[in-house]
Amino acid sequence: MSESLRLARATIRDVVPYPTERTPCAADLSDNTNLFGAPPAAVRELTTSGADEITRYPGLYTRRLREALADYAGVRPDEVVFGCGSDDVIDSAIRAFAEPGDLLAFSDPTFSMIPVFAKVNGLVPTPVRFTSSLDVDADALLATNARVIYICSPNNPTGSLASRQAVDYVIENAPGIVILDEAYAEFANGGRIADAPRHHRLLVTRTLSKAFGMAGLRIGYGTGAAALVHEIEKVRGPYKENAPGERAAASALREDVEWMRELAARAVTIRERFAEALRSHGFQPYPSAANFLLIPLPGAARIAQLMRERGVAIRPYPGLPGIGDAVRITMGPWPLMELALEALVGASETVSRESEVALESGR
Ligand code: PMP
Repeated sequence: MSESLRLARATIRDVVPYPTERTPCAADLSDNTNLFGAPPAAVRELTTSGADEITRYPGLYTRRLREALADYAGVRPDEVVFGCGSDDVIDSAIRAFAEPGDLLAFSDPTFSMIPVFAKVNGLVPTPVRFTSSLDVDADALLATNARVIYICSPNNPTGSLASRQAVDYVIENAPGIVILDEAYAEFANGGRIADAPRHHRLLVTRTLSKAFGMAGLRIGYGTGAAALVHEIEKVRGPYKENAPGERAAASALREDVEWMRELAARAVTIRERFAEALRSHGFQPYPSAANFLLIPLPGAARIAQLMRERGVAIRPYPGLPGIGDAVRITMGPWPLMELALEALVGASETVSRESEVALESGR
């Protein structure tokens, strides 16, 4: 172990940094963003950024953004907390409501950053299984007695929804806070952002990175009781958003909600069409309530590599608990999905041939 590593906090030594560099390719279907475009109001605002938005700290548009988010979510402005992506809100909430050494429980598999946020905050990641119907197992989550319970609905990467009954049972019986991550809720209709403030232990998080098409601006938010979001704001600290992003996001929330809904509906229609096409080629995607599909497939890492060589980026998941190898594909305009299907069929044929050859030579 190097001297620097020895100096590092013990709980972060084995954390692998999230890879953020991207190489352009014909179809990048790897990150569940809105591949149909950016909100017109956000684009307009960004092209008119003034010099004072660069020289001064942000803050000029903070109230506008807070009010726009509150109106969109159906809560009061003091029941909203926002940050540099919903990543920042989730991370800050964990720090605000748990001590080092506490447990963070979640149904596995879920958003890959959750165990990382647990570790970097000194918490113990505590995975539990989903039920056989891919609902969250409320009893298993509660049995951990974790100080933080994280539920993702629709869940990344499975696309499954947590039942209202299971979520309510967790909220009623949890010993600490419950984070309900609704990053993909716009594709599923419904969700709990408006009623979060009624429960003093519930934080519902959302993002402008997915259906709203603004991942590059890095704005996420959460709703909860005013006292709860206030604690998170203390931990998050000031100036986590940038001024042009605040302004652009506030305008998009005011002017482009219909635009967003139309594109989210288009992603859902394409998801069903793509699922049908996958089934006709013998694949078995999981039912999804989000803008992506998870397809169980042996050799997922090799398949992703072969698809990349054909210009299509997807996300491989080797060895998911209870599922095995799988790939996750984001929905985009249909011509991209046709490219993806062709690349997937080609790659899986190659992988089957390679494993037959390996079997032959092993005999
Ligand atoms: N939650 C889930 C379930 C996600 O999939 C993601 C992004 N991959 C995030 C939160 C974080 O998104 P952002 O920080 O861009 O808001």
